[in-house]
Amino acid sequence: MAQDNGKVPQTAHYEFGGPVGALFIMISLPVFIYYLYFACDKNSCAVTLLPLLPGSWDEIFDLQVFMIFLGWVAFQAVLYMLPIGKKVKGLPLRTGRRLQYRMNGLLAFVISVALFAALVYYQYPVTILYDKFLPFLTSSVIFSAALSVFVYIKSLAAPNHALAAGGNSGNIIYDFFIGHELNPRLGNFDIKIFCELRPGLIGWVLIDLAFVVKSWTDFPDNPPWCLLAVTFSQVLYVADSLWFEECILSTMDIIHDGFGFMLSFGDLAWVPFTYTLQARYLVDHPEKTMPSYCLMAVVALGFLGYYIFRASNSQKNAFRQNPHGDGVKHLQSIPTATGKRLLVSGWWGLVRHPNYLGDLILALSWSLYCGFDSIIPYFYPIYFTVLLVHRCLRDAAMCKEKYGEAWDRYCQKVPYRIFPYIF
Ligand code: NDP
Repeated sequence: MAQDNGKVPQTAHYEFGGPVGALFIMISLPVFIYYLYFACDKNSCAVTLLPLLPGSWDEIFDLQVFMIFLGWVAFQAVLYMLPIGKKVKGLPLRTGRRLQYRMNGLLAFVISVALFAALVYYQYPVTILYDKFLPFLTSSVIFSAALSVFVYIKSLAAPNHALAAGGNSGNIIYDFFIGHELNPRLGNFDIKIFCELRPGLIGWVLIDLAFVVKSWTDFPDNPPWCLLAVTFSQVLYVADSLWFEECILSTMDIIHDGFGFMLSFGDLAWVPFTYTLQARYLVDHPEKTMPSYCLMAVVALGFLGYYIFRASNSQKNAFRQNPHGDGVKHLQSIPTATGKRLLVSGWWGLVRHPNYLGDLILALSWSLYCGFDSIIPYFYPIYFTVLLVHRCLRDAAMCKEKYGEAWDRYCQKVPYRIFPYIF
């Protein structure tokens, strides 16, 4: 979208099916998380039209759990504000200004995991994350919805240049969903970057770890190998995101999307409570084991996915930082009118989104640990494929707008988007 003296134009094209699609997503996704919970528990795990619902409201909402949830978010906010960690600047905004961010996500992760280990050591009941999973889920849904309302109201007083180009349609439902303001802040506290990387992402790991404690406590003589493997892989994935925290500053979420219901709900409710599905399945079904050679094969698949994901992301980041750097200067690239070049060899010459390919292989490995008795643990790779295909199409539209004919040449040279010879 054209820079117009920093003025953010009205959003010309709707995504996600416009206001009707946004409303549908905002209603159906919370319903769907509950569906996943009720359709898959220790008694059964099957796609049913009417899963078994709880008998009372107390099973869904618990004030004490809500307070713990708020305490967790507040604790992460305190860690986020610690004056430790380097300060980096984000990409230039429409006005040319660059926001400053402090990068200390890995520190927050290490402190959180160490604190969790101490709680386990002193025998605090960390398995509350398993026992009260449902009220924790409800707390996250309530909190993320309330936060979306707060940032939307706040955005009404924001200057025009602070708005998100994609969430400035004038339609309340659509802007509320996409996010009206690009980078809502309270002083130096950046709400979007905080939600993207802290309470939900680190919470995901702690929920997994609590499941491991639960399984090991219930069956001390039976190490839950599949659960341990999936947890290790997910801890690695989250630690990787926080180790390479700076990379988030150039993602679509940060530079293009506003902060509204989509990211608030996605970061705080969807990530921790659906990405833990495989681990929850494995706690509920301790009988699900596999021969060690199968286990090793799935571990190897996971490492392959992680390797492709990490190597391709690092290659692009290194190239964007310095195209003449030692590790990337041998790569072929094509010029664009903006001055930036597009890689056409290395990982980015294989497919247009090698990082998505690696991410999807890793996601598949997490589900394979659950065996083949139920399709529900495969929800994550199925959903993630849809998300990344959609994201890849959104990104292509933006790149076409940015790079024009150079993008077409790149697409000719690298014809497949994510899966070689398929898509
Ligand atoms: P990408 O990291 O793929 O970034 C796309 C951008 O890369 C383009 O807009 C363009 O930006 C640049 N680019 C594209 N092609 C080339 C090329 N050939 N040479 C150089 N630069 C190129 O996308 P995302 O931000 O969507 O994803 C980042 C990571 O996050 C991925 O690994 C993804 O799998 C992961 N992810 C994970 C999610 C989860 O829920 N677990 C959700 C979403 C993403 P420009 O030219 O302006 O630099």
